[in-house]
Amino acid sequence: EEEIPEDHPRYQDLLTRHRIEAGVEKGITHLQGMHAEGRGSAFDYLLGEETIPSAAAAERAAAARLLLADEPVLSINGNVAALVPGEMVQLAAAVDADLEVNLFNRTPERIDAIVDHLAEHGAEDVKGIEADARIPNLDHKRAKVDSDGIYAADVVVVPLEDGDRAEALEAMGKTEIVIDLNPLSRSPQVAEIPIVDNIIRAVPNMTEHARELEGETESTLQAIVEEFDRDEALEAAEQRIRSGRL
Ligand code: ATP
Ligand code: MG
Repeated sequence: EEEIPEDHPRYQDLLTRHRIEAGVEKGITHLQGMHAEGRGSAFDYLLGEETIPSAAAAERAAAARLLLADEPVLSINGNVAALVPGEMVQLAAAVDADLEVNLFNRTPERIDAIVDHLAEHGAEDVKGIEADARIPNLDHKRAKVDSDGIYAADVVVVPLEDGDRAEALEAMGKTEIVIDLNPLSRSPQVAEIPIVDNIIRAVPNMTEHARELEGETESTLQAIVEEFDRDEALEAAEQRIRSGRL
């Protein structure tokens, strides 16, 4: 990361790519993660590589929804672990959520490597090793979750998630907060709160909102969640991308 000069016009993007590369080398990110990263990078370019107003509103609503949740869980995959490990640990602390490693290409080695990586970034208790429950209607390998983690959660943050799993979680009745730079992807389409922003910006923003909203009453938090219009937010992101105005 030291090699990239900070004044480079594509600094953030190069940094992100470098982190995925390092994640692959460290055994926490699958090679396919680089492809997901490339897709995200293209959408971020079209969004102007900034948090657009509708995404900022989504991040605030997400923080409020997490503070209202009974058993919130933040789902971690190989890209998330490579990009924002410490930031996810901080968000979990700010909203009192559990972290659960949940992989598309699941191997015990990668699960362990990610759990260790999160521990290096301050995580105390990471779920996803036990994997003693299944998400219904999903093929065996990808369905594995912890019975006291995602399986029991009322609210799940699913960043950079594939559409099948996002749909299966929705069918289970979970409230999903999805972070995904592509507003047309199925995952944000099924989310109660879709956040169309780079995870690198979205997670610290959510944490900041959570800290600021912490002492608020339930009705204030509920009002923030209700004020947020998911369809309008998805529409605004798509408009921004299609407009070509940077
Ligand atoms: P599906 O239609 O099943 O959702 P997909 O093509 O979206 O499939 P992936 O490519 O695995 O499946 O999804 C990765 C998603 O994550 C993409 O929508 C991409 O835009 C998004 N993404 C990648 N990097 C980031 C990032 N840094 N921040 C936010 N979103 C990202
Ligand atoms: Mg997708």
